[in-house]
Amino acid sequence: MSEAIKAVVSVRLLSAVKATDRPFDYLCPQGEAPHRGQVVRVPFGKGDRDRFGVVTSVRREEPDRALKTVREVFPDEIGLNEELFALCRHLQEQIFCSFGEAARAILPAPVYKKNARRIRIASLADGTDPGAASAIRGKNKALYEAVLSHLLLSGETAVSDLTQTYGLSSAGIALLEKKGLIRVELRDEERDPFEGFAAEDCSDQPLSPEQENAFQSLKEQLDRGEACASLLYGITGSGKTRVMLALCDHVLQKGKKVLFLVPEIALTGQSATLLAGRYGKRVAIIHSALSDGERRDAYVAIRRGEKDVILGTRSAVFAPADNVGLIIIDEEQDQSYKSDTQLKYHARDVARWRCAKNRAMLLLASATPDVESYYKAKSGVYSLIRLTNRFGGATLPEVKVVDLRGDLRREGGILLGRKLRREIADNLDRQEQTILLMNRRGYRQFLSCLKCGEAIRCPNCSVTLTVHSGARRRLSCHYCGYTIPYPAACPTCGDEHLLSHGAGIQQLEEELNTVFPKARVLRMDSDTLTGKRTHEDILAAFRNREADILIGTQMVAKGHNFPRVTLVGVVMADTALYLSDYRAGEHTFSLLTQVIGRAGRADKPGRAVIQTLNPYHTVFSLAAAQDYEAFYEGEIAVRRAFLFPPFCRMGVLTLSDEDEARLLRRSKEATDRLKAYLAGDFSDVKLVIYGPFEAPIYKMKNVYRKRLIFKYKNDKRTRALFDRLLTETQGTPDGRGKVSFDTNPGMI
Ligand code: ADP
Ligand code: ZN
Repeated sequence: MSEAIKAVVSVRLLSAVKATDRPFDYLCPQGEAPHRGQVVRVPFGKGDRDRFGVVTSVRREEPDRALKTVREVFPDEIGLNEELFALCRHLQEQIFCSFGEAARAILPAPVYKKNARRIRIASLADGTDPGAASAIRGKNKALYEAVLSHLLLSGETAVSDLTQTYGLSSAGIALLEKKGLIRVELRDEERDPFEGFAAEDCSDQPLSPEQENAFQSLKEQLDRGEACASLLYGITGSGKTRVMLALCDHVLQKGKKVLFLVPEIALTGQSATLLAGRYGKRVAIIHSALSDGERRDAYVAIRRGEKDVILGTRSAVFAPADNVGLIIIDEEQDQSYKSDTQLKYHARDVARWRCAKNRAMLLLASATPDVESYYKAKSGVYSLIRLTNRFGGATLPEVKVVDLRGDLRREGGILLGRKLRREIADNLDRQEQTILLMNRRGYRQFLSCLKCGEAIRCPNCSVTLTVHSGARRRLSCHYCGYTIPYPAACPTCGDEHLLSHGAGIQQLEEELNTVFPKARVLRMDSDTLTGKRTHEDILAAFRNREADILIGTQMVAKGHNFPRVTLVGVVMADTALYLSDYRAGEHTFSLLTQVIGRAGRADKPGRAVIQTLNPYHTVFSLAAAQDYEAFYEGEIAVRRAFLFPPFCRMGVLTLSDEDEARLLRRSKEATDRLKAYLAGDFSDVKLVIYGPFEAPIYKMKNVYRKRLIFKYKNDKRTRALFDRLLTETQGTPDGRGKVSFDTNPGMI
């Protein structure tokens, strides 16, 4: 090859959106020839600003025009492997994102922007005596002496700790070093992903006969070496985790990797604890709260093949592992598997694709499967494996659905009806623990004026402000965080008679304190998770019996094992039921079943009380009977009759803008454009269109939003139509007007 012929690479920018998604050509620096999937830094645009991108192809040719040159080629181990590269292409096609948006979800910025973190460590120089500080001139003598004594007693210490503890400046440290009293060196910091992580080993406990059967049939299926998917459907407490662990062992023995996904909240739950205990350092952990450095470490270690088990929340489905043999999605119905920020993917769909590529098994586990998953299992797309007994013969709790209307007529404004109060009192007497679910944050839902009737609203969002109690009595917006002190008078008319309505969890706390003054109550919602206090701390305190009653939003329902809990109360079961979402019934059923499942998991039988204003709604009696099958039969019939997934796909196109008039114009343009396609080039496409409507919360954070909702079939032609619509329906040049498309929206 002649000297003159250089490598030219096509690059897709990581920052591109759908409308700007195309490859750009660059020359490679002398001697460098990156390959497909590698990350590069390139000059871009008029100002030649730094941009990051992924190489999509490499050619040896004499360019016919002047090309800019790649500024930096990153090491291969932080790029995309062939599989993940293909995954970006697949997502581009399926969910209408740009290549860069998909690549960014797999390769978050810290992975390529961060270096291994170095820290400065100080130690005492040989033969130094803390008294030597007295020889230094200046007013800081005492400080220097303290630092030297510290090093004498504790040995090596991070410089940052010294400056923080003793208030010494870095100039002070430099002076000590210059005087030869201390040594400072740079070291790679070792980060321990397992810090603060509980581990429990259960490898010596044999499977029960039912669990063993489930394991054997999964193993058989897996050993065929073909792509397959299976639904492990087992009631709460049946030991699904044990079956999954046995299968992990088997896959690892074959030299393949396992991805183990858990819901957002359950990372410290039992599955994770057991996984950490069983496989120790072979496990990499991926979740949204990783520091930048930890994220990079995890990526590189997985890419190098140093980790066999990747445990994490939904984004762990993108882990750059080769040779994946099994992907497990625990509590597969959980909504946190659907991303509705930036890249709007569903972890289950990505997992399915990866399993197909790797000829691996996708294993979904749940006590209340997603209706779509169960439909697939029943129609043979997934194999269906059941566990029908609670381990060790524990019985399901006895559940009562209680009509709250009578109690409310007698004693207006209460949250705890007579039945639930009696049960709580019993439990307190017996020194057993209680969990109460109340799915509304704050104290009161809104505050309105008795004179003019206006409710106090958020200035940035089209919602009312929620009243919060406590030392800082205030009103705050749950969408944008806008907060004001509790007003003395109506901001609209100035009248002083303000009334709050709609109970929240803080009011429940207050009522418990009044009715059961001796009971120790612990509250868990996003308002109590402040600063360093995590939900793990709260759960640990409850597990250690530091409280008698745990009250919380849906966080308390998921995946936690509390042997001492024998009573579960659902304070307001109706709250989730009247959302406009077609899955409201499914979510309510699943939430109730899960929270009921928290009661009586050990030797003591459990009870549950569901309070409602609508006791005849079937979802309550079915949840009380833990009858998923019956629930499913009713639900799937409705979906079929009214055409909802799994019988079609749903898509939501959202246009947003800070300028309301411009938004109305843009949404009309988009609708007209779509109608023109359907009357012209795409007249063969069958599409049901609703809208444009205002989004359920029309204005959020000062941005107005309108939506078009679609029911469609996921075929090539329909995808081509959406692709065209989204390429032509762009954001505004000033960046304040945006477009997004969600193909499997979590909430409609
Ligand atoms: P699920 O995930 O199906 O709700 P778990 O896996 O949490 O059920 O199991 C319920 C309880 O039974 C847990 O406390 C677990 O430790 C225990 N358990 C399940 N299977 C076994 C087994 N084979 N040996 C010992 N304990 C078991
Ligand atoms: Zn707001």
